[in-house]
Amino acid sequence: MRIDVVTIFPEFFETPLKLSLLGKAIEDGLLTVDVTNLRDFATDRHRTVDDTPYGGGPGMVMKCEPFFDAVESLREKNSLERVVLMSPRGRPLTQALACELAQTSDLVLLCARYEGVDERVSDGLVTDEISVGDYVLSGGELPALTVIEAVSRMIPGVVGDWESVTTDSFYDGLLGPPQYTRPPVFRDMAVPEVLQDGHHAHIAEWRRKEALRRTRKWRPDLIAELSEYDQKLLDEIDRESPGTET
Ligand code: SAH
Repeated sequence: MRIDVVTIFPEFFETPLKLSLLGKAIEDGLLTVDVTNLRDFATDRHRTVDDTPYGGGPGMVMKCEPFFDAVESLREKNSLERVVLMSPRGRPLTQALACELAQTSDLVLLCARYEGVDERVSDGLVTDEISVGDYVLSGGELPALTVIEAVSRMIPGVVGDWESVTTDSFYDGLLGPPQYTRPPVFRDMAVPEVLQDGHHAHIAEWRRKEALRRTRKWRPDLIAELSEYDQKLLDEIDRESPGTET
């Protein structure tokens, strides 16, 4: 898979693309990430990519021509299946969207700054707008890195053990279960016995139950349709601690 990024701050991406799982995925050729400097597509001596807003108001708006020219130049080399603008008003980034994007052969992520970008970029250039949450950052670079990292984890081979992906929060719609490592007791806090007795079926059931318990408590919006098995586990939770906020 190939991801192009268009930004006025290419250096923002240098370290994150070298480190850890993402760095290794790129080194192993599972993913290619290329960063294009938007200013290379400015047409004046000062490499200007922004201008004052029509109608007045504070700040600067990013011009549309450099974005169109940058994407058209990238399109000469790649198909650019999806052209994504990082945008607070966009479709929220979820695990399901990360999975969906990982199926594409190539995509480009456009990072804006200042007050945002001329609306004609949305109207005539992009196929998607993606948000990383209901808050405003100063630029699209951190959101783009978030998309790259979330998408990369959905490419087989990037995370060494696929089971670790499938047991992560959100993969199957629930929050992940709690995890422990040595020591067995730390400051009066003991690791649950079930995790130490080596009985795989018991451990699997306990993990599912704790995942359900936490999801219902912290993210009830994630619980839509429950399987019979999950409903049985939730009923058990209620019987174990009736009437309490579990
Ligand atoms: N005036 C705009 C915010 C501009 S912030 C508004 O009210 O919506 C500048 C740029 O940072 C945005 O154009 C976008 O590219 C990026 N950005 C900021 N917050 C973001 C978020 N939550 N998700 C994705 N991109 C974001």
